[in-house]
Amino acid sequence: MERVYIGLGSNLADPQEQLRNAVQALGLLPDTTLVRVSSFYASDSLLPGQPRYTNAVAALDTALAPLDLLDALQAIETDQGRERKERWGPRTLDLDILLFGDRLIDEPRLKVPHYHMQARPFVLHPLAELVHHSLQLADGRLFSDLLADCPFEGLERL
Ligand code: ATP
Ligand code: MG
Ligand code: MG
Repeated sequence: MERVYIGLGSNLADPQEQLRNAVQALGLLPDTTLVRVSSFYASDSLLPGQPRYTNAVAALDTALAPLDLLDALQAIETDQGRERKERWGPRTLDLDILLFGDRLIDEPRLKVPHYHMQARPFVLHPLAELVHHSLQLADGRLFSDLLADCPFEGLERL
């Protein structure tokens, strides 16, 4: 089993309910145990004209291979009505793999650690509830350094 952290986000169709349903679906994944879920956080969209987002992070232990987990996450997104129109458009549910054990993954469909996590307070602050801040990422960066460079600004803990 490897410890995996999933970033959850929604800004359509009752975002908190979307996240609760997604957590339930994560708990039903094969060969996987749901370990913990962070608090939910609300923040304004980075792009103008979109509803506010709700975000959280879940910790899983899984025996699934990374691409099999990605397939399963995308199936949950689709089940919950995710439509892919424009990039970064509003969505009912986004499930991103933030960290996968101590793996560095660089495949066309999957980059881990998630390429933009360091710039996103709505990812790092919920993740901070679940990891030791002394954690070293697979690419050598220290979680505490990422967190120190990412102010809580604009986040509302729900
Ligand atoms: P962002 O990646 O900036 O958070 P997004 O989550 O809205 O944007 P999606 O439309 O959900 O982007 O995903 C686009 C593609 O990103 C997916 O089809 C998937 O193959 C790829 N991808 C690459 N790395 C990851 C990852 N770590 N977790 C989830 N998807 C990933
Ligand atoms: Mg995303
Ligand atoms: Mg995504």
